[in-house]
Amino acid sequence: MSKETLKANLREIPDFPIPGILFYDVTTLFKNPECLQEMLDSLYEMYKDKGITKVVGIESRGFIMGGALAARLGAGFVMARKPGKLPAEVVEETYAKEYGTDTIQIHKDAIDENDVVLLHDDLLATGGTMAATHRLVQRCGAKKIFINFIIELGGLNGRKAFPEDITVDTLLTL
Ligand code: 5GP
Repeated sequence: MSKETLKANLREIPDFPIPGILFYDVTTLFKNPECLQEMLDSLYEMYKDKGITKVVGIESRGFIMGGALAARLGAGFVMARKPGKLPAEVVEETYAKEYGTDTIQIHKDAIDENDVVLLHDDLLATGGTMAATHRLVQRCGAKKIFINFIIELGGLNGRKAFPEDITVDTLLTL
């Protein structure tokens, strides 16, 4: 199994969720046992020696590999969610979207200054969602932060949304 096989198994949906958008559907990678294992093995190899204590997965496609990877690394798992979903006290960051704003939250006690944190989401587009999550986790005092995606849309230059000293790794660049 190679990156080419992952690419071949990724489904592309034209005009979703609105006309003119080509949507990369990662559910076809999640449902394929070999692809799922390949992604998990590759991610584990990337981070096994980094001392990660918490993996933060971004709602909702970031929960899948994020949760699996946290268990494999022997780390904890934290959900970054849209407003109104988390039951205890939260901290939040609001960020600009193409039209309007969006907000991401985590539980206030989810991360502390002893944590080495891996932030994970399925796909990097403009970087807005991940940059806000990064600010949030930084505010919680995390000792060190890594950023990871399954897929990076290279043409959108989303990496520019993050501070230069942050390590950003992706499995596939499209
Ligand atoms: P950004 O904030 O980087 O512009 O957008 C990334 C967020 O939008 C991620 O949470 C990602 O799940 C979602 N997203 C945007 N475009 C796509 C896409 O083509 N496929 C998938 N699976 N997610 C997308």
